[in-house]
Amino acid sequence: MTDCIFCKIVAGQIPSAKVYEDAAKLAFMDINPIQPGHVLLIPKTHYERLTDLPEAVAADLASVLPRLARAAVAATRADGFNIFQTNGRCSGQAVFHVHIHIIPRHNDDGYSFHWRPAQYAPGEQEAWRKKISDELARTHENPSNP
Ligand code: AMP
Ligand code: ZN
Repeated sequence: MTDCIFCKIVAGQIPSAKVYEDAAKLAFMDINPIQPGHVLLIPKTHYERLTDLPEAVAADLASVLPRLARAAVAATRADGFNIFQTNGRCSGQAVFHVHIHIIPRHNDDGYSFHWRPAQYAPGEQEAWRKKISDELARTHENPSNP
């Protein structure tokens, strides 16, 4: 993807502050951190969304997450961390090359994701559960629905 900023980082056409690299993936410092130590993990191949990843690419990408998170937490002496991931403009995705945010967090760091938990009307949760389950069965992605 010639106009993708993360592909340009992979190609070395623009600089990045790398923390991890192997043949298939790259992790670097987020240029505008939510908290100090905020790292982004990307596959080197261009995919727009998490849902575009072949299973093996997703598994390989995720395999380094615990190690990266441990390093970010240890380096920042954080109390915990968030893993955050956006897909589509509606979700806040600004760079359309799939990426996983690793964000160190401290007790009382003052940051909030502004969750607004809602409640289902009676029967509504079951209706959504069935729709999702049916979709998984339709796409043969649910091992319990071969
Ligand atoms: P998202 O909103 O999930 O698409 O997040 C995109 C992230 O990429 C933001 O947190 C940006 O700060 C970060 N970002 C954009 N350009 C760069 C860059 N050149 N180097 C490092 N991080 C970047
Ligand atoms: Zn890209």
